[in-house]
Amino acid sequence: MSAYEIHALRYAKSGRRDVRENFLNLDPGMDLHEAETPLDYFVWLIEGEGRTILVDTGFNEAAAAARKRTLLVNPAEALSRFGVEPDAIQDVVITHLHYDHAGNLDRFPNARFHIQDREMAYATGRHMCHRALRTPFAVEDVVHMVRHVYAERVVFHDGEAEIAPGITLHRVGGHSDGLQVVRVPTRRGPVVIASDAVHLYANMNRQNPFPIVFHLGDMLEGWRTLERLAGAPERVVPGHDPRVTEIYPKARRGTGEAWALHEDPTG
Ligand SMILES: [Zn+2]
Ligand SMILES: [Zn+2]
Repeated sequence: MSAYEIHALRYAKSGRRDVRENFLNLDPGMDLHEAETPLDYFVWLIEGEGRTILVDTGFNEAAAAARKRTLLVNPAEALSRFGVEPDAIQDVVITHLHYDHAGNLDRFPNARFHIQDREMAYATGRHMCHRALRTPFAVEDVVHMVRHVYAERVVFHDGEAEIAPGITLHRVGGHSDGLQVVRVPTRRGPVVIASDAVHLYANMNRQNPFPIVFHLGDMLEGWRTLERLAGAPERVVPGHDPRVTEIYPKARRGTGEAWALHEDPTG
């Protein structure tokens, strides 16, 4: 049975956010520390079985300035600090095409990009005529991915797919129509990199969605899918929760900020 290591590499942070920016419903039982939490931004590195797979590519300095986020380090540089050169990456999974997951597409010259059919259709189709749905995308990232299609560097998936022994992709949609999550076998059992299927632990625990939604029903069903795929809620890793950096052990290598998700959380 294959077992991989997964590290979350933090590359950016937001400021403290209003409760309405983190939760769709105003829940009177929520404590403000939880409700107004800032977001952290990560890319995820999977290693093992002779493979090095990057999940998402983050954003760059220009995007950070445009959206008033604090870029700590370009994700490509974060990889280098961790000891992995960007040109050594052969596979990049793009969970979805939002700006904070699909920038830097020029930084991985030897990679092929795994994406769901429906994400590409969504990001280039009629729904992008609506500002409310378009806002989390950056058109240049989408155009860049189209160029990769024409250069035969994109691998399309429709629903479920195995991209390396035991590593599977699963479309859940909801937040973005073609959002996919990644299930990775590790020594503590299957870990699911949820990306934006779960922004914060509290979104899933309180069944209170993050307010960027394409299809609410798919988002809610997606949480059940995640628990089924992981087999235990503590093996679902949310995409933007600063608590990840508090409860997982810090990586024992590299000079940057990374946390080992294949090890049991301590908090
Ligand atoms: Zn997103
Ligand atoms: Zn995101």
